[in-house]
Amino acid sequence: MGLPGAGKGTQAEQIKKEYNLPHISTGDMFRAAIKAKTPLGIKAKSYIDKGQLVPDTVTIGLVEERLNQEDAKGGFLLDGFPRTVEQAKALDEILAKTNRKIEKVLNIDVKPEILLPRLTGRRICKGCGNTYHLIFNKPKTEGKCNNCQSELYQRSDDNEKTVANRLEVNIKQTKPLLDFYYKKNIVADVDGDRDIKEVFSDIKKILDTLR
Ligand code: ADP
Ligand code: ADP
Ligand code: ZN
Repeated sequence: MGLPGAGKGTQAEQIKKEYNLPHISTGDMFRAAIKAKTPLGIKAKSYIDKGQLVPDTVTIGLVEERLNQEDAKGGFLLDGFPRTVEQAKALDEILAKTNRKIEKVLNIDVKPEILLPRLTGRRICKGCGNTYHLIFNKPKTEGKCNNCQSELYQRSDDNEKTVANRLEVNIKQTKPLLDFYYKKNIVADVDGDRDIKEVFSDIKKILDTLR
């Protein structure tokens, strides 16, 4: 968990490599559906462009389908889901059906003030979806992905106006959601206001205790 720009996607890229887990990002799934112009994508786009959350029913259905795919049976990494207490409760129910549960919640904690420049400077690879930053995480060649050499682009919701709304929506949802998981005693707080490598090193220490 973490506010938009906290570094969820960036850390997830490293976690999935280190632990060989499928990375399930609802934001990435919505963006793929928008690109493919599926009915789900058309519905999601109207919310995403305004910086609002996609309705719970739509999001929960999408995640349930994904969690029941073969590659998720041995474990998975969720990124950007759950974002509401309703989603968190639904997630528990989905997992209980197959005797699974959430083992750990990594909460990437940052001061909201640092997020605007992180989000407006974010660039994404068109080919593999890797995340970069114009200042904080530059690609080796300007405008090109280190992994696959594809072009980088800016997400349509990473403009100043949409970002302000996204932050407001997410700040409101975060406290009750974190409380839900604090009560279960499974939250690990990570200071996200440091170098990408340092944040990952903390995350690794936490996840290694679960292996
Ligand atoms: P989230 O998935 O939480 O929205 P991202 O991982 O996409 O966040 O990170 C947002 C932007 O900030 C990206 O451009 C990323 O390269 C950059 N970034 C991520 N972590 C850090 C960090 N620890 N310090 C500086 N910039 C970071
Ligand atoms: P970030 O963490 O940088 O805000 P994401 O890629 O996780 O970005 O999400 C982008 C947008 O997709 C969100 O602003 C929201 O509209 C939608 N979205 C993603 N995950 C969810 C979710 N779990 N519930 C509702 N909407 C979501
Ligand atoms: Zn790439």
